[in-house]
Amino acid sequence: MEKLAEEPLRRARLVAISVPMHTALRLGVRVAARVREIDPAAHVALFGLYAILNAEHLLAKHCDTVLGGESVDLLVELARTLERGEAPPRSATSVARPRQEPVPSRGGLPLIDRYARLEVGGETRLVASVEASRGCKHFCRHCPIVPVYRGKFVAVPREQVLADIGQQISAGAQHVTFADPDFLNGPTHALRIAREASARWPELTFDATVKIEHLLQHQDLLPELARCGLLFVTSAVESLNDEVLRALRKGHTAADVPLALRAVREAGIELRPTLLPYTPWTRLRDLPDLFDFAVAHDLVDAIDPVQYTLRLLLPPGSALLDGDEPRPWLRSFEPDGFGWNWQHEDQRVDALQRESAALVHSRAESDARETFALLRTLAGGGGRVPAPKRCIPRLTESWFC
Ligand code: SF4
Repeated sequence: MEKLAEEPLRRARLVAISVPMHTALRLGVRVAARVREIDPAAHVALFGLYAILNAEHLLAKHCDTVLGGESVDLLVELARTLERGEAPPRSATSVARPRQEPVPSRGGLPLIDRYARLEVGGETRLVASVEASRGCKHFCRHCPIVPVYRGKFVAVPREQVLADIGQQISAGAQHVTFADPDFLNGPTHALRIAREASARWPELTFDATVKIEHLLQHQDLLPELARCGLLFVTSAVESLNDEVLRALRKGHTAADVPLALRAVREAGIELRPTLLPYTPWTRLRDLPDLFDFAVAHDLVDAIDPVQYTLRLLLPPGSALLDGDEPRPWLRSFEPDGFGWNWQHEDQRVDALQRESAALVHSRAESDARETFALLRTLAGGGGRVPAPKRCIPRLTESWFC
């Protein structure tokens, strides 16, 4: 978002870098290296999901402490330990509800208009981002949350969530993205927050991430969430190949996807699927199926083109590496890539992924529908892409980790 300000780093005794996702970790280690150049005496901590997953390598090469899971209390304790001149921990993880959870201080962050915006019905709105919960009660095998939270989730106190929304509305936000891994892990908690936010700010709209399984299980809640302002739901469809979905333990089948789509649309909400098309279990013919599904269900504008190119990440500790099932696709561990390499048994699948990713990269500023058609042709599919029947709200930044 902005250049690294070096002056504060010269005075800092503790520099804590948030690395909740893979991309953040890649950037974070570059920041850590720069901090060490500027002030070799500063204590460098990396915190967040990807810090704890890669703890061994990070401690050996990039930082002094790694913290994971519920990091707030751990960060405060680290600062106090350093203040007292005591030896700080090398690593610590917690999934316990924090003792202290103040409303986030956003004064030091870039202004809200620097972040992704909502595009809806020809207008653009500033967007607030809050978490109503962290962690997840599910065990999808490819998910980086699972090795850290192990089926637990923590609900953020309602008043704190609402106060954080309030301060971002004061800064100009008209829409809220709930950044929870899954908004309906605690449906009562989620519904109360949505009701209260809608009562306090009737014009406010929001979006949330909800898994297909929860959309079906809690479909009776969807109409009320829509009345409270829920515009769209991001949901990890991942694949339409049941073997892939079983391998990932996603908790849904391909047949559940159109049912969830219908439930969401009947409530007046739009669905924005995310995909994981490239896994060791993917068949070449899965790709044309995905494009055909998007066309058949009027989802072409609901799926960012980059989603058709995403490849499974295997961080250390991934549940996909548990057990002794054969993994002929597994290759070496690459510490600086923060994960395991894998190779599809059918080289054409890997080749298609590389070509698709390059195509999307080269067309970042191009018309998304044209990119869709080109990707579809590349994957061996084809056919007309009909004009859209619906206007699907979107954030101006594609969502992926
Ligand atoms: S439901 Fe989502 S957040 Fe929860 S384990 Fe599965 S992929 Fe992760």
